[in-house]
Amino acid sequence: MHVLAHPNPALKQKAAEVDPGTDRQLARLAKQMAKLMYAERGIGLAATQVGVQKRIIVFDLGDEKRPVTLCNPVIVERSDETATDEEGCLSVPGITVPIERASRVVCEAIDLKGDPVRVEAEELFARMLQHETDHLDGILILDRAAPEERKAAVRRYMEALSAESAG
Ligand SMILES: [Zn+2]
Repeated sequence: MHVLAHPNPALKQKAAEVDPGTDRQLARLAKQMAKLMYAERGIGLAATQVGVQKRIIVFDLGDEKRPVTLCNPVIVERSDETATDEEGCLSVPGITVPIERASRVVCEAIDLKGDPVRVEAEELFARMLQHETDHLDGILILDRAAPEERKAAVRRYMEALSAESAG
């Protein structure tokens, strides 16, 4: 398993809802995703990013190595108040893009046992949840950037890519 990088077309797909009650692969998938997330030093990872079209995300905002898994996460509330901050993505390596997001969100999901989970998040936590649920809908940071920022970001990214393949 590895993290797919833009412009891999799998990153543009909309992932399907999961049923932890019948999908026996989910716990294993979540474990592998968490391992990869830590290895890549990310704070969150969506299944879409490893080419699995299932609505599942893992994240860990702390240093306790205790990953949280959410299945079928949906942002049900977004604050009117927004914040703009530089955002990176393991699937768009080497660049960050300023992105405006809701400052606070409420996210509803189910856990790996199928029990409902409701998360109230703010600041970085809220930003991460919006970022990861975007992935499940095939949306990347490049798609969220303002038009001029997007142009510059794509150029920086292509430069980073070609430098990598040259070196
Ligand atoms: Zn990402």
